[in-house]
Amino acid sequence: MIGAGAAGLAAADELARRGRHALVLEARERVGGRCWTRRMPGLEIPVELGAEFVHGEAKVTHALLKKAGLSVVDSVREQRFLDHGRLRSIDGFMEARRAARLAADLDRDVSFAAFLARLRLPARTKDFARMMVEGFDAADPWRVSTRSIAEEWSGGELGDSQPRPQRGYGALLGWLANAIVANGGELRLGALVSNVRWKPGAVMVSGKFLGERFTARAKHAIVTLPLGVLQAGPLRFPEKRAALRKLASGPVIRVAMRFHRPFWEKRAPGVAFFHSSAAPFPTCWTPLPMRAPLLTAWAGGPKAARLTGSPVRKLVDAALTSVESLFGNGPRALLAAAYVQDWMHDPYSRGAYSYVLVGGMGAREELAAPLAGTVFFAGEATESEEAGTVAAALRSGVRAAREALG
Ligand SMILES: Cc1cc2nc3c(=O)[nH]c(=O)nc-3n(C[C@H](O)[C@H](O)[C@H](O)COP(=O)(O)OP(=O)(O)OC[C@H]3O[C@@H](n4cnc5c(N)ncnc54)[C@H](O)[C@@H]3O)c2cc1C
Repeated sequence: MIGAGAAGLAAADELARRGRHALVLEARERVGGRCWTRRMPGLEIPVELGAEFVHGEAKVTHALLKKAGLSVVDSVREQRFLDHGRLRSIDGFMEARRAARLAADLDRDVSFAAFLARLRLPARTKDFARMMVEGFDAADPWRVSTRSIAEEWSGGELGDSQPRPQRGYGALLGWLANAIVANGGELRLGALVSNVRWKPGAVMVSGKFLGERFTARAKHAIVTLPLGVLQAGPLRFPEKRAALRKLASGPVIRVAMRFHRPFWEKRAPGVAFFHSSAAPFPTCWTPLPMRAPLLTAWAGGPKAARLTGSPVRKLVDAALTSVESLFGNGPRALLAAAYVQDWMHDPYSRGAYSYVLVGGMGAREELAAPLAGTVFFAGEATESEEAGTVAAALRSGVRAAREALG
């Protein structure tokens, strides 16, 4: 397995439980990839810098949480948006779904921006639909396939209750990593793979393990590299060029901020999500129903693309400006600590999650197709259902392991 994110760990677990030797090579010094749970002094609750919610049905995630003995906490969905300086109530998911429902009549795929321009809907509905595409899907409205968005949003789960793993996704993936090792699997952290050579029935992988060159040989390899990493190289699979051109990796920047006190509770008690479409970080949320002086500021899609690669200080400053656009001046002086994660700037992710470009339906299946029964592909980008989620990554790992087992 190349990569110890949700997909790589799920694949290795499947193989190790069936008594097969599984070697997992992970570039980072931690497992989890785009699931990254941290602790912040002064907070009782975990701080997520990657995945946080269990979206939709996510049967595989719930089953694994149960097996690991980990519980979930429901999240509060109450939302407000900034309208001419006032916070007003909104159901952003419902507004966005209203627009997406109209895509059922499309005769050919177009970008979501072009689709929205044609619709006769209130400006607010269009604004929320665009914010959802940018924030929730991390996509550029001028590039993303409307068909793919309509398919995803028509599921009905969008806007339903979205629980969080109580101890964070880190606890779940840590448990899975331990299970792999306990079943005889080999997990190497700090192992950066830079080359994969293969012919039917034989694979040779090479790179650096803690700075020293290494080579590993096997009958099969399961590649779980993020889409953005596959697109950027240096590891390349020419057979996947066409599929990679039809997908894009969406940028997201998250800033987790601990304040000396939760100043928002007085202004908007019981509200979890705040939107301000003009702000650099258009969405902020609280950990409700868990109570803690923690605010997450989120920028996705074009807004994140504009900020990616900026120094941490500038990102925190932009996050505070966004918070002040919602709550007025004052929060800046109350900041106690901030963690920033710019996923596009991270060389081992190169984006937060994948989306389908106009005309690209079917590309995920193309990306998932094995090469001569020897090299298999997993990862959130390879699943057409629940794509872009932990559930998709977990499921893809199990699927690729079963393909490898024949
Ligand atoms: C900010 C953010 C918020 C999200 N929120 C949610 C959410 O609320 N709910 C949800 O379900 N999903 C969410 N997701 C998506 C979810 O995190 C991903 O879909 C999932 O974790 C992807 O798992 P993966 O195994 O496919 O990829 P990854 O987790 O990226 O795993 C790939 C691994 O490959 C490693 N790697 C890269 N290059 C190399 C190399 N050359 N050699 C060796 N190893 C390498 C990486 O370090 C990484 O560990 C979110 C993602 C982000 C970024």
